[in-house]
Amino acid sequence: MTVRTRFAPSPTGFIHLGNIRSALYPWAFARATGGTFILRIEDTDLERSTQAAVDVIIEGMKWLGLDHDEGPFYQMQRMDRYKTVLAEMQAQGLVYPCYMSVTELDALRERQMANKEKPRYDGTWRPEPGKTLPAIPEGVKPVLRFKNPQGGSVVWEDKCKGRVEFSNDELDDLVIARPDGTPTYNFCVVVDDIDMAITHVIRGDDHVNNTPRQINIFRALGKEPPVYAHLPTVLNEQGEKMSKRNGAKPVTQYRDEGYLPDAMVNYLARLGWSHGDDEIFSRAQFLQWFNLDHLGTSAGRFDDAKLRWVNAQH
Ligand code: GLU
Repeated sequence: MTVRTRFAPSPTGFIHLGNIRSALYPWAFARATGGTFILRIEDTDLERSTQAAVDVIIEGMKWLGLDHDEGPFYQMQRMDRYKTVLAEMQAQGLVYPCYMSVTELDALRERQMANKEKPRYDGTWRPEPGKTLPAIPEGVKPVLRFKNPQGGSVVWEDKCKGRVEFSNDELDDLVIARPDGTPTYNFCVVVDDIDMAITHVIRGDDHVNNTPRQINIFRALGKEPPVYAHLPTVLNEQGEKMSKRNGAKPVTQYRDEGYLPDAMVNYLARLGWSHGDDEIFSRAQFLQWFNLDHLGTSAGRFDDAKLRWVNAQH
């Protein structure tokens, strides 16, 4: 099998060190195995995506030498493709229109919370043999929901987390197209990962809850999901999740401050992966040693003094 990995950032803020580590590992895995590394820009959040954020992604990757073999692909340019797949799924009965309004959904959620139940869509509009659906309300544009399998569970062997299992009963029938027909995030990711023939998805563990939903969509489309590695979060020096809001610097700022790209690669590599006790290594050594068997299982913590020390060793 030829390895195909990707980095799929959302350009909704300036990419920081925690984010770029999610580019480093799939890149290194592709390079270490003679595979292909793909860059995909997930720019469907039109309100929050900016060209300046795309520029920081591209420049930051260039500075660190994380070269891609295919792309950058932009999700906004793939809308026709998503709509074609949606239409195919509709024709196959894998999705259904749901006319429940936001007000009705809110009321349902309140009732469920009052009964101490987990809030979830109740399947009112899910077609079943012998079931009569409510009358279609006038003037309401439906969302499209994915018919999630009922019963059983979704299980995968995660390269970081080990065996992960979600019961299907905990997963809603996911909205995969909005009333205006635009596809939603989880659906686009699956169509892209299929079309780009991704074999290994290496990404932050903030996506773990999306993965069972994505796996179910893969299978509904007749495809086997890729191997997953969900990387533990990178924390800042205060032990909080690194984010722009709490002062994480854009990755290009380290370039402007004169840090050496090989030192940064070395530092980020060690922030969630290990090779024995080796702290200082070259890019070539890293690529020779890197594999998915020694990914860390607990959160990495950014340490400015250590970064400066690593930089001084290069
Ligand atoms: N666009 C997502 C993010 O920036 C990543 C999605 C993925 O890797 O599947 O968090």
